[in-house]
Amino acid sequence: MGETSDDLETRYSRQMRFAPIGEAGQRRLATSRALVCGCGALGSVIAGTLARAGVGKLRIVDRDFVELSNLQRQSLYDEEDARSGLPKAIAAQAKLQAANSTIEIEPIVADIDASNIEAFVEGVDVILDGTDNFEIRYLLNDAAIRYGIPWVFGGCLGAEGQTMTILPGTTACLRCVIPEPPAPGASPTCDAAGIVAPIIQVIASIEAMEAIKILTGQWDAVSRDLVVFDLWTNETRRIALGDAFPGFGRCACQGRDFPWLDRRRGSHSAVLCGRNAVQLSFPESADLSLEQLRDKLETVGRVTMNRFLLRLEVGPHVLTVFRDGRTIVGGTSDIAEARSLHARYVGA
Ligand SMILES: [Zn+2]
Repeated sequence: MGETSDDLETRYSRQMRFAPIGEAGQRRLATSRALVCGCGALGSVIAGTLARAGVGKLRIVDRDFVELSNLQRQSLYDEEDARSGLPKAIAAQAKLQAANSTIEIEPIVADIDASNIEAFVEGVDVILDGTDNFEIRYLLNDAAIRYGIPWVFGGCLGAEGQTMTILPGTTACLRCVIPEPPAPGASPTCDAAGIVAPIIQVIASIEAMEAIKILTGQWDAVSRDLVVFDLWTNETRRIALGDAFPGFGRCACQGRDFPWLDRRRGSHSAVLCGRNAVQLSFPESADLSLEQLRDKLETVGRVTMNRFLLRLEVGPHVLTVFRDGRTIVGGTSDIAEARSLHARYVGA
């Protein structure tokens, strides 16, 4: 936005001296637009890196507020943000704009779902996953394939993280590699199983680097592997998508339908009138192990259960989870907050 060559040379000199980027790459970054979905741990690092790198426009979508328990790993935020309970997208904008006033930041406080995803991806050149939520990732994948927008998947739990870049028309997509998301409650969440900050930095840094390659038009340099790191055991696995999934080097879903975008998949939510509660239900009925869920959640809050359901009391909220996955989140009539609590504790 209006920076002269001298300004560019000063601010971005080290990055421009990196030959694959150079002045041409830097100019391309300045006219690029990136969508950062979720601005928690991964999103903080991704947005911070891309803002400092000079990506011209960042659209940041997040549904949550800053809390004290975020500060261990969500590097954009501080204690004052937690005290004032600012929405993460708004707090992020202030921090990013202070680091680079020459770019445009568009903060959006919203819960990404099938009704709004198309507006969020409109006009962007790359989509970055900072969500830690499989339901939203399948939605992002559908939108990315339908509109031909590259996107970078990333996820972390404990000390392990994985990432993969999807170039529509060129590589496999998320659904080619992982056809179905884990059932609700089936996979651990960071709130239940914990997470350490260094793995976030690794995965988010790779996501940001991949975005810079894409935005400077250097698709040949983009990773064609699903990469998995465990920073505790120091193991790295690299799954070459072309080899592991013969015939899937190109996306097998191209031209097929988009069930997540078309709302045939994904959860449904409804405010329960007069009860200060929200019900979340899932079209694919799960068969949850309430016993496993209890073991997972015992350190999180007070858990009680019977043959039919499990109740988790955490702060002012009570989550009641039925065996088919249906969940009633009490203590809120805000659908976004209910979906957030469900994703944190039960997992989607
Ligand atoms: Zn595919």
